[in-house]
Formats: sequence, C-alpha cells, structure tokens
Amino acid sequence: VREFPELKGKPITVGYTSANLGIAIVAQEKDSPPIFAIRIGVRNITYNTIGHELMHLVQGSPEPHPKKTRLQRAQRIPSGEKQCDIWTLARSPLFCDDAPTYLKLPKKIRLNWNAYAAAVRRLCIAAIEKRKSYRLYIRWLEAELKKLAIAPEPTSGGNRQLALPF
Ligand SMILES: [Zn+2]
Repeated sequence: VREFPELKGKPITVGYTSANLGIAIVAQEKDSPPIFAIRIGVRNITYNTIGHELMHLVQGSPEPHPKKTRLQRAQRIPSGEKQCDIWTLARSPLFCDDAPTYLKLPKKIRLNWNAYAAAVRRLCIAAIEKRKSYRLYIRWLEAELKKLAIAPEPTSGGNRQLALPF
C-alpha cells in the first residue's frame, strides 16, 4: 500500500479468493464514500498480483476532478486489464517479482521473466510517457516487447549497465 499514495487513508478490505489470482471491487452508494476491497488467491502469492489488484482500486476510484483539465485526463490511469498491468509494473520494481497476466509477452520473456523484468519495466514506463502523444501506446509496447525477445537475452537481472563488457 506504501506504493499507492492515492489509496492513503482509505480502508481496504482484504479477502481470499480461490476462483482467480485476484479480484478488486470498488463499490459506492450515493452520497457515501467508496468501499474498496481486494481478494487474493493465497497460493503462489506475488507482489505483482497484490499490486495489480490495488491498481484496479486506483483505476476504479471516483473521479476527484469531475471537470478535468487535459493534464488531469492524461494523468488518470485508464481502465482495462492490460493498462492495469502496465501501470503496476511501472509503479515499482517491487511489483516485478512475477510476469504480468494480461500484457502480451513473447514466450521467451515469460519463461525467463527474471532476466527480462527490469527491461520490461523500463518499456512500461516509456509506454506511459508515449501515451501522452500516441493513442496506440499498448500496441507500441507489445511491438517493443517482441523486439526485446529477439535481441540477445539480458544478463544480471536485466541490468544493462552490469552487462557491459569491461
Ligand atoms: Zn485485473
């Protein structure tokens, strides 16, 4: 939750689900504050799953600025599963402990996730930047991920600096 200042001070109910990796719920009755809940599967739990569900709560939070400026619209995290994966990986290296579920990853990257995690995170951050001027930023990101899989596999957990020959 420390990684989510947007949720600071908001009570979040946490429960268990056996049906999915996780599920997030934002419920709101008229004139009352929203109710936030996440349910997580307890087998093979990862920070990525927890981060993904908390990101859904941010996505589903009621609009703080109903009359949005262009900048506020651009900063708002868009809804959708792939969007949730992208913003979760970009948010913190903490959430890079497992591959995302919905983002289309080449098999090579999915099977060697630890080697690629840092590079994929960098691309997610770049995609969020790209979105400001390019509507098809997810398509761009998935094309970049394909290129990443074709390039030689990164070493040392994807840290390019350490991979430089000295
Ligand atoms: Zn989701």
